[in-house]
Amino acid sequence: MDIERGNLPSASAIDRYDACRGAYLLSRGKPDIKTPEMQAMADAGDRIHAWLEDKDLIDLIPEELEVAQWCDEQRQVLITKVFGDNMTWFFSEQRMWMFDPLTGRQIASGKADDIRIYSHTALITDFKTGRGEQRESPKNRQLRTLAVILNEDPRGRSLEEIYVAIIQPLITSTPLMTKYTAVDLGKARIELQDLLRDIQRPDAPRTAGEWCKFCPAKFNCPEAESMVKKFIQVDVPSKEGKELADLLNIVSGAKAIITAVEARAKQLIRENPNSIPGWGLSKDSEVRSIRDPFGAYKVLNEAGHITREQFLSDCVYTGVGDLQKALVKFAGMTPADAKRTVNSVCSKFITKTPKSGSLEKREQ
Ligand code: SF4
Repeated sequence: MDIERGNLPSASAIDRYDACRGAYLLSRGKPDIKTPEMQAMADAGDRIHAWLEDKDLIDLIPEELEVAQWCDEQRQVLITKVFGDNMTWFFSEQRMWMFDPLTGRQIASGKADDIRIYSHTALITDFKTGRGEQRESPKNRQLRTLAVILNEDPRGRSLEEIYVAIIQPLITSTPLMTKYTAVDLGKARIELQDLLRDIQRPDAPRTAGEWCKFCPAKFNCPEAESMVKKFIQVDVPSKEGKELADLLNIVSGAKAIITAVEARAKQLIRENPNSIPGWGLSKDSEVRSIRDPFGAYKVLNEAGHITREQFLSDCVYTGVGDLQKALVKFAGMTPADAKRTVNSVCSKFITKTPKSGSLEKREQ
């Protein structure tokens, strides 16, 4: 039982429901089992969200703090663009509900990361703190759904325009903002009601794809299973064009299921080494590292094994990101100022090595 959402559809899953109409009924009430990697990412996201809600609530590690500060800077820019100097009131991380107009019963819900309101205008922002790119606001259905639900909530009924934006600082520093007027919200409400009706149909079709990655039903779903099986029979060298695009579209959903299978196997073998016939775990090993490089240099230098120049040229590597983080930590700069300072003051020390691009999905 999903107590917070009352087992009802939620805005955060709206893209999945759109792509796979049968996902809601099959996944209803199922716990969302995450692999350790996905759990670690979710936990980091939760810590950053907590800091954005209240900076005194939590201490972040430098990497998280950097992302949190970027989110905060972009949020401030958007707030100023929409409201100027006007004082807004705000609420965050509070679940809002949509009601059936005939029965008055709750039918869906949504929780926005940050909502600002002044007079008849609101701004909804959603923070994505990972590297996985999300659709920008004009095409983001989760944000459109949140705008509709806010407009139904007692706190948002008098709104005449709602701006929405997704802040994803590891993807872009200039998030796009979209404005919904009362007319737009009326159309979006009808579209949402149609979808909510559709996903309640017991015969709603299930379609597997990349969206299976976050579906709680992915381990009990015949369509997701067939998707993974497809890869067993695929003749990779013969694939190109549209056929290859179709395969790529389902790779990330299949990968998530495969990773979860491996994580489960590891967990069972750790509990009982004979639990899976023919499979075991390699020996645990240690990764060696030096926490105090100058301490190590000192003892080696004093023993006459290495000179200062040899040590500096062969053993010391400084990442540009590490340098920026050090300025944030020790010079009290914002991440953006640290980046500007390193780029200008240290430009002659920075070398650029070409890096091949990775596969990315483009909007069509
Ligand atoms: S696992 Fe994939 S195909 Fe199955 S219900 Fe979920 S989204 Fe649909």
